[in-house]
Amino acid sequence: YQRMVLASRPRGAVTPANFRLETVTVPALQDGELLVRNHYLSLDPYMRGRMSAAKSYAASQALDQTMIGGTVGEVVASRHAGFAVGDAVVGVLGWAEMAVTDGAQLRKVDASKLPLSAYLGAVGMPGMAAWYGLNRIIAPKVGETVVVSAASGAVGSVVGQLARLQGCRVVGIAGGPAKCAYVVDELGFDACIDYKAGKLEADLAAATPDGIDGIFENVGGATLDAALARSNAFGRVALCGLIGGFGGADMAIHNARLLLINRLTVQGFIVTEHMDLWDQGLAQLAELVASGQVKYRETVAHGLAAAPDAFIGLLQGFNFGKQLVKLI
Ligand code: NDP
Repeated sequence: YQRMVLASRPRGAVTPANFRLETVTVPALQDGELLVRNHYLSLDPYMRGRMSAAKSYAASQALDQTMIGGTVGEVVASRHAGFAVGDAVVGVLGWAEMAVTDGAQLRKVDASKLPLSAYLGAVGMPGMAAWYGLNRIIAPKVGETVVVSAASGAVGSVVGQLARLQGCRVVGIAGGPAKCAYVVDELGFDACIDYKAGKLEADLAAATPDGIDGIFENVGGATLDAALARSNAFGRVALCGLIGGFGGADMAIHNARLLLINRLTVQGFIVTEHMDLWDQGLAQLAELVASGQVKYRETVAHGLAAAPDAFIGLLQGFNFGKQLVKLI
């Protein structure tokens, strides 16, 4: 089978030369192991951080090893009592067509209820990030205004729909008219601001007549400052991501004075540190997606060889919804 390894660490922007496709043979299974054929690979912004040697909340990706990544697939051989051939499983098996695992971080999922790919998006890690940041940090009350950036994306789309279901006014921020139209027309947000139109602050002010109570921040920098400028007293900021800074843009908070003036709470979080809540959150998300109350969109690249370009595209905002690689 094929796997993609990290060949070199990026100097500046990620390039295809940072990756190398390798063919490896399937090792014989030991007792307690199983073999998974991956159907989809998830591409996520956090992978950019892992590619560099800089210190972060998680160890960096080792060179010449399979790139880290979330996967969903099917058990094709098992010497593990807890998994049978045919089981659908979500895990972090990396950029590879197949993987042998001891099953420690594998979750069985119901392939009859939802498409497998949903378990990497709205009913997976990004959905849980939305669920956690909204419910545990912003904890919005009915009638409050919530703003979310990267609003058409895997996390942002779920944040806005959950907040709408909880009776909030929801305003998205996204890049370009097509993404904004989708966020309002398909996802049901009250408004969406196209930050590329060049008048983010004025447009956001017009869309938030009662100010902003909850900021779900995925981008940072000017986007966060624009939202802070509209913040209400005792507002909450769930700091989920700073993808706007990946290309080297300034992530400084210039409106820091408003943190004090408005007595704001800012809380960063890493969703994988809250595994105790995943069963509860994912069960809710699965219901909402299955019943059509939460919708999602995907951008799908085909074949492992397409993964590097798709990942580079994600880092440039070319994806529209959850970025996946379909392996079979
Ligand atoms: P998305 O599906 O939202 O894709 C990323 C999007 O970010 C792009 O499509 C783009 O949309 C937007 N974007 C804004 N500014 C930039 C920029 N300068 N360069 C590139 N893209 C930009 O990704 P996810 O939903 O997976 O992740 C969203 C955020 O959540 C990220 O910051 C990520 O790191 C974070 N995250 C954090 C987690 C945690 O536990 N804290 C867990 C999961 C994700 P547009 O065209 O609208 O600008």
